[in-house]
Formats: sequence, structure tokens, C-alpha cells
Amino acid sequence: MLTAEEVKEYAKKAGADLVGITPMDRFEGAPKQMDPRYIFPDATAMIVLGFRIPRGCLRGIEEGTFYVSYCGMGYAGINFVLQPTVLWKITNMLEDEGYEAVPIQNNFPWCHIQTQTGEPRPNWSRPVSPDRPAPDVFIHLRIAAVAAGLGEIGYGKVFLSPEFGPRQRLACIITDAPLEPDPLFEGEICDRCMLCVRDCTADAISETETVKVNVAGKELEWGKLDVARCKVGFQWPDPEHNPFLTEPSPVYVYGRALEGARGCIRACMIHLEEEGRITKTFKNPFRKRKPWRIQ
Ligand code: SF4
Repeated sequence: MLTAEEVKEYAKKAGADLVGITPMDRFEGAPKQMDPRYIFPDATAMIVLGFRIPRGCLRGIEEGTFYVSYCGMGYAGINFVLQPTVLWKITNMLEDEGYEAVPIQNNFPWCHIQTQTGEPRPNWSRPVSPDRPAPDVFIHLRIAAVAAGLGEIGYGKVFLSPEFGPRQRLACIITDAPLEPDPLFEGEICDRCMLCVRDCTADAISETETVKVNVAGKELEWGKLDVARCKVGFQWPDPEHNPFLTEPSPVYVYGRALEGARGCIRACMIHLEEEGRITKTFKNPFRKRKPWRIQ
């Protein structure tokens, strides 16, 4: 019989950096629209995968000179090339062993769902019967990663692993393979330094208002994220921090992390590396020069 260790070893050889397994009952209490058990009611386990964002993908943004590596290799390339490739391999391996497996990548168009709320968009889809949620069920991958024991959600609402801190993207596979689950992560990575709040140029993370969620008996709490402000930081011509646009534009600027994840990823990563709170560290510190502002 296929063991959890064999699946993890296979997944890492296939290209995943982190692998954890949660039983489906850790999703007990999830809102119906976000409960993965409605996708595969007979599933016994979810395999959650983490794919590292190379630190070097953030280098050009730190220097204010090159955003393409993060947008391409650190974002779209992981979500749309690496994840599907690895997910297909693991899925096929599980199905060759006689177990059904549902591969789910990050950032695919959950277009019938408002991603800010997890609720269906009015008039976009409807449940096929009163006892089921409307398609598509929206999986909160950060919570899935917590359930699989891969780490925690930091104050900035970004998933933090003890290996990479905020530097990974997540995906999952739901299967009826009877795999041994991992325990929940017991450590503490986020120390509430609040640098994610302070360094976010869009003021998108509240310092006082928080969101609390219980996952398998473990209480999670993060700063309330103002998604509209986050979007502004992502694509608006902030005169001090966005070098790409010079005028406000009603046109969506796709795929460019114009704010460069200044607070929620870069400030957090620098802090966790400096404080020795994550294991994947480097010979040289990331920040060597004063953070730039457009002059
Ligand atoms: S920047 Fe500090 S407060 Fe924010 S998530 Fe990282 S460790 Fe936690």
C-alpha cells in the first residue's frame, strides 16, 4: 500500500519544496462554499504542496530596476507552469496506484466566486441541489496548508513556513488514498513585529482589526486585509513606490506586482531571516541599501 512517506518523496522529486498531508475532517466547520469535502466527498486526505519563490526573484524589485523575474518566475511561472507539471505527475502516480486524485493549482480563475469574500457572485452560478454549494467551491489554500502542518498564517495574512517564511506558493491534491496525516505545526514563526503593516505602501493591513479562524482546534489570527487597498498598491501609480504608471488608469495592469510586496513579503522575509526564525537563510543579507523611494 502507498504510504505518506512515499508520496512525499515522490512529490519532492517531482519538484515540490514542501509537502504536508491533512485528513479531510480538519475542514470541519469550514463555510460550505469553502469546504473541499464538497469537491470529493469520498476523499480521505488532502496533499498540500509548497513551491518556493526564489529570493533572487525579488532582487530587482528591491533595487527598483527589474520586476520581470518576480512576475514571471516568482509568480506566473510557478502558478501556471511548475505547479501544474508537478500536480500532473503526482496525480498520475496516485491514479496509477488505483486512487482517484483531484489536482488543484493556485490562482486559477475561480471566476464564479468573489475571492475577497469566498461567496458566489450574484447570478454567476447556482447550486445543482439545495444541499450543495454553488460551483466552484473556493479553497482557502493558506488554511489548507495550516491544516497539513506546513506552517502558519502570519499577521500580514501571508502563509509562513518554517523553511521559507513568506516565500512560497501553494497547491493541493484531494485523494481517496488512505495517507497518514501530518500533525499541525506547533512552532511560532510570526512574532508580531508589524513590519508587514508598517511597510505596506497601500496601508492595506489593519494594525488593530483582526480576523480569527479556528482550524482543527488551533486558533489563527491575522490583520484584517483591505483588499481594495491591496489592489491599489498592486497596480496604481503611487508617486513614491510605483515606477510604471505616471497617471491613474482605469485599465487593469495585469500581472505586475507594482508595489513589489514591500510589506507582506519583503519586509517579513528580511525580518524572519535576520531574527533566525526560518531555516532557509543566505550567505548575504537581502537588504544592503536603503529602500528606494521615487525621487
Ligand atoms: S512582518 Fe512581522 S508581523 Fe508581519 S507577518 Fe511577518 S513576522 Fe508577522
